[in-house]
Amino acid sequence: MGGDRPLSTRSTTVPDTNTTFTATVLGAPRIGPNRELKRAVEAYWGGRIDAAELHRVAADLRTAQLTSMHAAGLDSVPVGTFSYYDHVLDTAVLLGALPERVQGIEDELDRYFAAARGTDTVAPLEMTKWFDTNYHYLVPEIAAGTQFSLHPDKPLAELREAQALGIPARPVVVGPITFLKLAKAIDGADLLDRLEDLLPLYEQLLTLFAEARADWVQMDEPSLVTDLSAAELAAIDTVYRRLATSSSRPKILVATYFGRLGEALEPLARTGVDAVAVDLVAGGTADLPVARTLTETLIVAGVVDGHNVWRTDPDAALAALAELSDGGASVAVSSSCSLLHVPYSLEAETDLEPRLASWLAFGAEKVAEIVTLATAVQQGPAAVADRLEIARTALRDRRADPRLRVEPIRTRLTALEAADTRRAPADQRRELQRARLGLPQLPTTTIGSYPQTGRIRLARAALRRGEIDGAEYDARMRAEIAEVVALQEDIGLDVLVHGEPERNDMVQYFAEQLDGFAATSNGWVQSYGTRCVRPPIIYGDVARPAAMTVEWISYAQSLTGKPVKGMLTGPVTILAWSFVRDDQPESDTARQIALAIRDETIDLEAAGTAIIQVDEPALRELLPLRRADQPDYLAWAVAAFRLATSGVADTTQVHTHLCYSEFGEIIGAIAELDADVTSVEAARSHMEVLDDLNAAGFDLGVGPGVYDIHSPRVPAAEEITESLSRALKAVPAQRLWVNPDCGLKTRGTDEVVASLRNMVTAATALRQA
Ligand code: GLN
Ligand code: ZN
Repeated sequence: MGGDRPLSTRSTTVPDTNTTFTATVLGAPRIGPNRELKRAVEAYWGGRIDAAELHRVAADLRTAQLTSMHAAGLDSVPVGTFSYYDHVLDTAVLLGALPERVQGIEDELDRYFAAARGTDTVAPLEMTKWFDTNYHYLVPEIAAGTQFSLHPDKPLAELREAQALGIPARPVVVGPITFLKLAKAIDGADLLDRLEDLLPLYEQLLTLFAEARADWVQMDEPSLVTDLSAAELAAIDTVYRRLATSSSRPKILVATYFGRLGEALEPLARTGVDAVAVDLVAGGTADLPVARTLTETLIVAGVVDGHNVWRTDPDAALAALAELSDGGASVAVSSSCSLLHVPYSLEAETDLEPRLASWLAFGAEKVAEIVTLATAVQQGPAAVADRLEIARTALRDRRADPRLRVEPIRTRLTALEAADTRRAPADQRRELQRARLGLPQLPTTTIGSYPQTGRIRLARAALRRGEIDGAEYDARMRAEIAEVVALQEDIGLDVLVHGEPERNDMVQYFAEQLDGFAATSNGWVQSYGTRCVRPPIIYGDVARPAAMTVEWISYAQSLTGKPVKGMLTGPVTILAWSFVRDDQPESDTARQIALAIRDETIDLEAAGTAIIQVDEPALRELLPLRRADQPDYLAWAVAAFRLATSGVADTTQVHTHLCYSEFGEIIGAIAELDADVTSVEAARSHMEVLDDLNAAGFDLGVGPGVYDIHSPRVPAAEEITESLSRALKAVPAQRLWVNPDCGLKTRGTDEVVASLRNMVTAATALRQA
């Protein structure tokens, strides 16, 4: 790939309209303000509506959204960010990169959903985290034999649809570098080598957009904010210089987000693309000094946080915008990333305390903020003086709210000493706990939740509608707990759980009981496909007014002579799955949550609980995208977990659970969590995880999942015996625990019972051997 084309060649066939824009967003939510798309897609899957009806719902949603963004004053509106499931999958379709196993499926939509979710005979694409967000994308699979081909119907149709509405539409596609970096090479090849195959398709696409009279195209390249190799940096030059000089094209905006561009910014701008979007929220002001000197490139300044729900500080934003303009750069105002990651609008939040609501901005409110800021840049702040003043007042009000600084909490945290986050050496604890618990070798247990039955969901709905009162609800939950405890005794498990029937969600359940958190009624955000979550908002100092789980666990313990594990969600996970306050470092908020969890562990212990599990499935997901930022994060994340779990006696056994097995950069941190027992996924990765842990010097208890709970399949006892035997080659019997991969809440009762019986049979057989 040659980087030998001349600098900044502007081809004459670039539309010579001097169209530019001043206010935009990088993308928008798509699931529907009331999750209409979720319902329609699920109805289509269930055969309750046909494809035509699904397309109609989707078109209505797009129309409403495009119209409202335009009416609010955006003068360039992203289109094509709509998706029936996932935009990375859409890109794979666009580039003809669906895996071979779905190619035989005749119907286009069914083929698409087969790639997304699988069918009886076809495995779906893998799903993984979209950078450091809680959105999950489908991982395209690219084999040596994958022949790319362009299928531009969707982006072109959505472009025409928007144009027909009179919208200044800017088609959005995932750029080639990010697409290849996110894809998985089936045969381990370096996918960067496939750029040469993709570029002609992108050139064709640009031509088609130009012919369709798009003034601008947005190419999303969030991968450019990660650490790039020299080859990747060189690829920026090759790719965008070539696209910038292609013979017929709209103006090109390369959109980057989720962090600072750093060393990639200048090379990217020098390729001759017309605009670069920089994330001035996640990236801070790091890119400002270079960006302000790029006078040939429109800087699309992401000053409004697309990944959090707080109202923008207009003065900070205007200062950043002024710094850019003063350097000579042309500037447009934008969201820092797509608004996919925030709810639609505050208007639906009728139950939110008005004071708190005045501090917030969801999707629609962010659009209004962007328009205000853009107007201030274009016409001077006086033109929007009243709107700026409203924002300033809200901000002052937020800062003055006493719930943001609760002195007793802060005093307690400052008074903590190193000893408060340290327990006795692990082998001493092991002996003490062995003596107290008297468990057999290879103890069997589960990760916490049992199937969330229809009965549980009905009770929850009845409580919400006021058909039953709290006492009746509690009684029904107790009945569930009693059933699950009896079931576990019957199966013969060694360490029992209460089954978590009372928890709708492992974060929301705690958020509802902690001070400093607020819940929304309609603040849904797409997590993947049709799955949405409603993250709580952490707005103030976190405190625990009362015990949260003790009654349930004590009740379960009262029903059995076997130990019942207390179940808590860890501070990092609660933080990761909430909207976090932006007025103090995340590490400070994590410490406050940790203190609340610590108090809960102490109460559980006082109530007689001998084993407490603190789940941290999100430990890896908050890992910063840049290696340079990772050690600091891991230090505070580990410290928060240890603060949460070091308040108990050495005789109390602390467990943790992590929802994955590829630890990568965090393997050292897992050992430092210093949990007595760590359960992880392993069934799908064949116990390799144990070698990884050993290599990192991990010598605590470990429960590598012996079967995959993500599938309804019941594993045979022999299979489990075999994986345990393999585990025993890596880990001595004194340290090995026997458990499934993850919680059982999404599974059916029959398969759970059958699988657990086989698991206990396998463990018993091995013990005797
Ligand atoms: N204790 C939780 C459960 O079993 C853990 C879930 C998780 O790790 N995501 O459901
Ligand atoms: Zn899990």
